[in-house]
Amino acid sequence: MKMSSSVVAYSFRYFPPLKQRALAYFSVQRRLRRRPLRSPCTALVTTSLNATSFTGNSLFRRMERFWAGSSIDKNKGMVAHLKGYGVIQSNKVAEVMETVDRALFVPDGSPAYEDSPMQIGFNATISAPHMHATCLQLLEKNLLPGMHALDVGSGTGYLTACFALMVGPQGHAIGVEHIPELVAVSIKNVEKSAAAPLLKDGSLALHVGDGREGWPEFAPYDAIHVGAASPEIPKPLVDQLKPGGRLVIPVGNIFQELKVVDKNEDGSVTVRTETSVRYVPLTSREAQLRGY
Ligand code: SAH
Repeated sequence: MKMSSSVVAYSFRYFPPLKQRALAYFSVQRRLRRRPLRSPCTALVTTSLNATSFTGNSLFRRMERFWAGSSIDKNKGMVAHLKGYGVIQSNKVAEVMETVDRALFVPDGSPAYEDSPMQIGFNATISAPHMHATCLQLLEKNLLPGMHALDVGSGTGYLTACFALMVGPQGHAIGVEHIPELVAVSIKNVEKSAAAPLLKDGSLALHVGDGREGWPEFAPYDAIHVGAASPEIPKPLVDQLKPGGRLVIPVGNIFQELKVVDKNEDGSVTVRTETSVRYVPLTSREAQLRGY
């Protein structure tokens, strides 16, 4: 994968000043009575002790438990931090983010549980965990079992997998991404994850396409998420929203705002701003590949 080093590719929410964040961080640590995420050695030692005391079969079995346990613990730790900061407020969102191991969706060797966006190639990024959590929170009521969800700019497939677990086998979670190589990788990622059965039964699907056109096949949608910043709100996406449906989309160029677009029962639309954000652009494949 060739990545352009000149591209600044983010997708995160602006946080309060450092001092406030540090205070919040340490109070979360105290409350959780656990060591910070950035102590991998400590986490490994703890897990290894657990593995030794609770398994007792072959060496291979112990190794298996050791690695699996350690990864799940760290993913849970990440979710615990997001809860501590108040980014995750609902049990459902916490449960889904605990179930979908983020490490399966980031490139090998990336610090999967760090709260930061990461390069995934092709001038794209996986969004920061707090941004995924924010969008899941905003869309929670539109991701009930049986509902239809569309993830535009699905990238690694992480959020589409979360959507799929929320809407379940009776629902539809559709990811649309315009870089075919990323779609291929995202399918492999999902196949390794807890959402694999949903991909197999067709309630989760990842497609190559221009997400600005939406995905009419499963419209209208209860929830639409856009993972890249658009200069304006694309009309096809609003058209494909169900009455009562919600679209969450970053809008802007250099200065971007996360917009929450609600379609009312009479078909009218209400738009509000959630927060300032920084995402890679929602654009053409050509523009993205040449670095915008
Ligand atoms: N939400 C994803 C990826 C975010 S990066 C994740 O967290 O993994 C934004 C993604 O939008 C990139 O993968 C980029 O290739 C894609 N994208 C940009 N413009 C697009 C368009 N017009 N249609 C479909 N995907 C697009």
